[in-house]
Amino acid sequence: MQLLKDKITNQGKIFPGNILKVDSFLNHQIDVDFLCEIGKEFKNRFHNCGVNKILTIEASGIGIACITAQFFHCPVVFAKKTKTKNISSNVYTTQVASFTHGVTYDVMVSTEFLNENDTVLIIDDFLAKGQALIGLIDLVNQSKARLAGCGIVIEKGFQDGGKTIRDMNVNLQSLAIINAMDACKGTIEFG
Ligand code: 5GP
Repeated sequence: MQLLKDKITNQGKIFPGNILKVDSFLNHQIDVDFLCEIGKEFKNRFHNCGVNKILTIEASGIGIACITAQFFHCPVVFAKKTKTKNISSNVYTTQVASFTHGVTYDVMVSTEFLNENDTVLIIDDFLAKGQALIGLIDLVNQSKARLAGCGIVIEKGFQDGGKTIRDMNVNLQSLAIINAMDACKGTIEFG
């Protein structure tokens, strides 16, 4: 998606530890008109999949998921992160190791909002090592819903998450794939 690549090139900031910051349009300040284009693109890529629910994880995925859901006319469910084990029994739970925060969260979704009648599109902002997607896919599997696929805004192709998810035969659609980024030179290479 050229618009996205241009935004990343012009506004993205590379930080040590293979972190790309896109705080000016996606992760802190949100460019809503731009997110509409992201939502339309996800709709184009998954329009024939029978999606009736979008699943994401708090916090950064929520805005992207909500705007995308406007094009699918379906609800959004976001998996909640908690550091406690004090979880009610009427939830699906899994664990997700956070790439950016270095902690492992228990992640949960109420059984009320995901079940075998659902066809789910998972949406998230970044794909790095794949832990967030693996956790969300686990929640979908526990609910016996059908997984339509995963939509990612920015995949860091030099990390192994994309391969892991594609090896699971999941329809993974990333709107921009970064092959390499150099923090010293400030350069970003797309796939
Ligand atoms: P993964 O679970 O695939 O290892 O990492 C994906 C999650 O970590 C995403 O939900 C995203 O919030 C965060 N993340 C991973 N890499 C980056 C990055 O380079 N920049 C930002 N802003 N978030 C990232």
